[in-house]
Amino acid sequence: MAVAAAAKVQEVREITRIERIGAHSHIRGLGLDDSLEARHVSQGMVGQVAARRAAGIVLQMVRDGRIAGRAVLLAGQPGTGKTAIATGLAHALGYDTPFTSMAGSEIYSLEMSKTEALTQAIRKSIGVRIKEESEIIEGEVVEVQIERPATGVGTKVGKLILKSTDMETVYDLGGKMIDSILKEKVQSGDVITIDKATGKISRLGRSFTRARDYDATGQQTRFVQCPEGELQKRKEVVHTVTLHEIDVINSRTHGFLALFSGDTGEIKPEVREQINGKVAEWREEGKAEIIPGVLFIDEVHMLDIECFSYLNRALENEMSPIVIMATNRGITRIRGTNYHSPHGIPLDLLDRMIIVPTVPYDEKELKEILSIRCEEEDVQLEDKALEILTKICTETSLRYAIQLITTSGLIARKRKAPEVGIEDVKKAYMLFYDESRSIQYLTDYQKQFMFDQGDETVASMD
Ligand code: ATP
Repeated sequence: MAVAAAAKVQEVREITRIERIGAHSHIRGLGLDDSLEARHVSQGMVGQVAARRAAGIVLQMVRDGRIAGRAVLLAGQPGTGKTAIATGLAHALGYDTPFTSMAGSEIYSLEMSKTEALTQAIRKSIGVRIKEESEIIEGEVVEVQIERPATGVGTKVGKLILKSTDMETVYDLGGKMIDSILKEKVQSGDVITIDKATGKISRLGRSFTRARDYDATGQQTRFVQCPEGELQKRKEVVHTVTLHEIDVINSRTHGFLALFSGDTGEIKPEVREQINGKVAEWREEGKAEIIPGVLFIDEVHMLDIECFSYLNRALENEMSPIVIMATNRGITRIRGTNYHSPHGIPLDLLDRMIIVPTVPYDEKELKEILSIRCEEEDVQLEDKALEILTKICTETSLRYAIQLITTSGLIARKRKAPEVGIEDVKKAYMLFYDESRSIQYLTDYQKQFMFDQGDETVASMD
């Protein structure tokens, strides 16, 4: 049951992978060469070479399956590409290596406790590769019957009689099998294979073309049966699901449909224990393999002391994923305590982390990133406009400058210009404030705002 449902989950995942243009949609990987050295500009990534190289080493460790239970901290100023690097790493991982991304503040949900939210995130980041023996049946079609509903709408039903090793078997046809039969134009006399695991039917040819017997003169004398051994072939089918998906599928209160809505609620510890036991059994029997994936926690300073100690313990578990955290904070208060520590992370957790610093970009790198974003958003900028935008970027922030690409692009489109000019960038800059002008504006006009608390410090970011 778990495995059948898992196959469905995989299909859904593939569909939801269609991405819109998001903040990091220009990132296609870490941009490393074969020896894991970072190319200066590659796969949408620019500069930040040392941190990308470090991420490359982490990638190698994930691939080797050696990094389970490790924690990496990406630490650096805002807009220095910490999330971009984590996104690049996610792209570089194998298709069935789980990658989960969350912001620290997401754990403060009303629906579940903080530790449950963390447990789910951790279990979403551990893959179980399940191997299944699947039977492939080969035989000659005696008869196919497909009944279409009289109204033309509704489900088709059908039967297939297949002669295999001198035995005729009647198969009830499911929707997938009917689709395959219609697609392959299967009819009596065809030799086909049926994959019992997936219901896929493939047409190999007509029986008389592949099973002739010849006499000495080369004349065809009769049809022959294929040798028995060839009629039943075995094939291995591999599904990869996450521990969380198995939990949800087997949690009686919700059932696997909860995977689609995301409304999984809390999962009982007994269910998890049972699943862990089952997976351990599968591993011993050689039916399953654990794939430690990656859990990325952005704004990790938003976690509190309870979460940190929970994480510290979870990392000890042999089925732990690699946890990558990111923060732009310096020495700050650990949430839930009155203690201060570097990045707001308790020292004992910090002690077991590999810390990767990210550094501010120079002007040339900023220009390069901006022009990659222009391409991604399909906005053409005049050279001069790109220069002005880079200047704005150095004086405000990379994020703000990236926002101006979209807005100035719209302004240019409104005046039907093929390219964004200096005027458009200027207009967008005047219309939309960056952080420091916004603070200035509030300070200048604070008395006119409702509920003003004027004298308190502006933007205490805790
Ligand atoms: P914060 O601390 O504020 O969360 P951050 O370090 O996570 O910031 P990002 O969000 O990764 O910064 O970067 C801001 C924007 O710049 C994103 O759109 C990101 O994709 C882009 N960017 C940052 N660094 C690079 C880079 N080296 N190459 C290409 N794009 C980058």
